[in-house]
Amino acid sequence: MEEMAMSEKKPVVVRESSARSVCPVCGKPSYSATGTHPQCAMSRADDRSREDLKKIATEVSKTKRKFWSKPCPKCKREIPARRFVCDCGHTFAEVAAAKAPQRSR
Ligand SMILES: [Zn+2]
Ligand SMILES: [Zn+2]
Repeated sequence: MEEMAMSEKKPVVVRESSARSVCPVCGKPSYSATGTHPQCAMSRADDRSREDLKKIATEVSKTKRKFWSKPCPKCKREIPARRFVCDCGHTFAEVAAAKAPQRSR
């Protein structure tokens, strides 16, 4: 048996590394059939869910921003709640008086 294998002079290039597929996530050779390490596939899914979370967070912050805005009674435009003076020149007198006196400048 061994002799037969020896006599066969095929250029047997044992390239295990090339036979392995490379994990697309971490770039390391993987033995798994799909080529992706199970844990890598999971981390990838994590990344995706993280992106989803980011999206949700962005939407939440958007809602918050909407919450922290107030409509100007003069021009009906929504301006940030922390602003005391609208672009149209309208002054939110109550808020300005209650929160901070006008800066003398
Ligand atoms: Zn991997
Ligand atoms: Zn205004």
